[in-house]
Amino acid sequence: MEMWLNTIEWLKYTKGANMGDLTANFNRAEYACKCGCGKDNIKDELATKVQLVRDILNRPIKINSGIRCSNHNTTINATPTSSHIDGWAADLGYTGSAARYELLNAAFQVFDRIGIAKTFIHVDVDATKTAGVVWLYS
Ligand SMILES: [Zn+2]
Repeated sequence: MEMWLNTIEWLKYTKGANMGDLTANFNRAEYACKCGCGKDNIKDELATKVQLVRDILNRPIKINSGIRCSNHNTTINATPTSSHIDGWAADLGYTGSAARYELLNAAFQVFDRIGIAKTFIHVDVDATKTAGVVWLYS
């Protein structure tokens, strides 16, 4: 048992920053509420699918927003029914139209609920909401 744990630690060190503690390339902290409250119980299904998008893109993705506590969700004037509150959603950052194209192309292979904003795309796996939709943020 001890030897197995040591092997995992060794892999973490040798793979360095490319190995996340949540999925292959993402750390749980990247999905934590941005207000600093410590809420970080993002849903595994969401994190797994974001990793799939990352695998298709084959380059880093910035998580602009993951899970949110209700206070932070209110502070940023997000909708009170936001899928971020229960950890079903993430906003994936990008810059420019080429990056938007690549990110959307990858996201459409994985997600069926996508919101498009100028600097991020929202993806979620909220089963209580309508699937097969794309919306815009004004
Ligand atoms: Zn918070």
